[in-house]
Amino acid sequence: MSVDKFWLTTALKDMTHEQWESLCDGCAKCCCVQFIDDDDDLLMQTDVSCRLLDTKSLACTDYEHRTSKVPDCVQLTADTIEEYFWLPDTCAYRLVAEGKDLPDWHYLISGDKQLVHKKGHSIKGKVISETKLTAEEVEDRIISWIPLSD
Ligand code: SF4
Ligand code: SF4
Repeated sequence: MSVDKFWLTTALKDMTHEQWESLCDGCAKCCCVQFIDDDDDLLMQTDVSCRLLDTKSLACTDYEHRTSKVPDCVQLTADTIEEYFWLPDTCAYRLVAEGKDLPDWHYLISGDKQLVHKKGHSIKGKVISETKLTAEEVEDRIISWIPLSD
């Protein structure tokens, strides 16, 4: 299969809307609840998914209104992508912003949208929805910490 690797030849800011949207591999790692600890200057990531995420399909159940319903939902743009250091290192937007190729399992290369799940690069089967937890229980489910500054 011949693949048009447009992400290697087109800057994020020059991509069409379709090209931009197609980069997302559907991993939903960016749809997990995160906190910032002001004392330690750390970003704390949890294995709790946003209340709007369908944990089976990993689709946002109200993508159109997501930023009004979930004010913390970050809308990625080409102008601000470099600020999103917290995106997973497998995220296509982060990879392309860093001048890297997409991984072989990405559906734009493999042609298989399920491969991201089969290879374990998505949150499928690894998270619980915040709708099933109290705020205190969510805070107990921190799985990693990222320093916000050096
Ligand atoms: S982390 Fe990146 S590739 Fe994964 S769902 Fe979020 S935007 Fe898409
Ligand atoms: S609102 Fe939708 S896109 Fe935003 S974090 Fe939640 S599930 Fe993901």
